[in-house]
Amino acid sequence: MRSAPKKKAFPAIACTVLSFLLLLTACAPRSAAVSGTSFAMGSLITANVYTDEATAATITGAVFKEIAALDGRISATAEDSEIAALNRGETVTLSPDTLEMLRDTLSLGDSLGGQMDITLGAVTSLWGFSSDEPRVPAPDEIETALATRGADKIVFEGDRVTLAPGQQLDFGAVGKGEACDIARTVLDTSFTVPAVFSVGGTVLLYGQKTDGPWSVGVRDPFGGANDYCAVYTFTPEDGGDFCVVSTSGSYEKSFTENGKTYHHIIDPATGFPVETALVSVTAVSYIGRWSDALSTALFVNGLNDVSLGWIDEYLIGAAFIFADGGVWVSDGIRDGFRLENTDSFHFIEYEP
Ligand code: ADP
Ligand code: MG
Repeated sequence: MRSAPKKKAFPAIACTVLSFLLLLTACAPRSAAVSGTSFAMGSLITANVYTDEATAATITGAVFKEIAALDGRISATAEDSEIAALNRGETVTLSPDTLEMLRDTLSLGDSLGGQMDITLGAVTSLWGFSSDEPRVPAPDEIETALATRGADKIVFEGDRVTLAPGQQLDFGAVGKGEACDIARTVLDTSFTVPAVFSVGGTVLLYGQKTDGPWSVGVRDPFGGANDYCAVYTFTPEDGGDFCVVSTSGSYEKSFTENGKTYHHIIDPATGFPVETALVSVTAVSYIGRWSDALSTALFVNGLNDVSLGWIDEYLIGAAFIFADGGVWVSDGIRDGFRLENTDSFHFIEYEP
């Protein structure tokens, strides 16, 4: 694991982890978790917090409230959100959090070669994968929508922001990771007890439970929602006592029309679902925004030297699963990554 670029973002987190360790010894975490659920960002949110019931209820209440507030700011469908107003063509004075997320996600997308691009909203809304009626748009619709893409078309006047005509933002590729970062911040600032939060399958593993390391299942791309093909076990290292695990898979949202199946991860070069031999990419990072953005960008970009550079820069590690059952896992998570279903899946090496 290379630590230099991660350390850039880490002084505050390192301090928190230190104070967290001290607090942990004082709090003596329970080995059984208190569970809670909520729904936001079109996703089920589950919490398992390793502390007494009252504290767990306070923590989950605070986290769910913050995530609902995030959803209320960035949702493209909730009419009164800041992003929905931008998408309607209004000039909007953004709240500091939304402005920071917008600017940072745009610059992250830029660093990822535009393969994860939140200005693709006009294209993703044409496909309607999040709606009840997804459809294959006509080529000229895609062309018109694709022409609105580009961070350089957005007008920033301080905190006042206006999109280009027809341009729309879609935070679908980073929102769940962001929600995990919010959960981590709540845990960091007030409660520092071991916990796992799952936001629609993007998972924050936080702290050290007393009964062993965290394990998280990696969905079997060919199985049902509860089938796992691999398990990732997170052992805290020098960088931090938490991580966010995010998976982008072509099985996640898809529909079939005239015998062809269309999935929800869009190739920004074409405006159509990415044509790829991949079925999923799992990305593990200390930062949820990165883990979520990278799972999408790596899925679009495929397994190549450029992707390896991104993994090195932003992630603890990543796992690529191919339609033929081949599984490539980067060094950073290789020790913790175990295949459960060896009939259908096998490890492969990367050959440039
Ligand atoms: P999931 O939402 O299933 O966790 P992702 O994190 O990969 O999966 O995000 C996919 C969502 O992001 C899509 O549903 C769509 O709203 C949006 N999206 C699709 N392709 C891209 C892309 N290339 N860049 C940015 N956002 C995208
Ligand atoms: Mg993503």
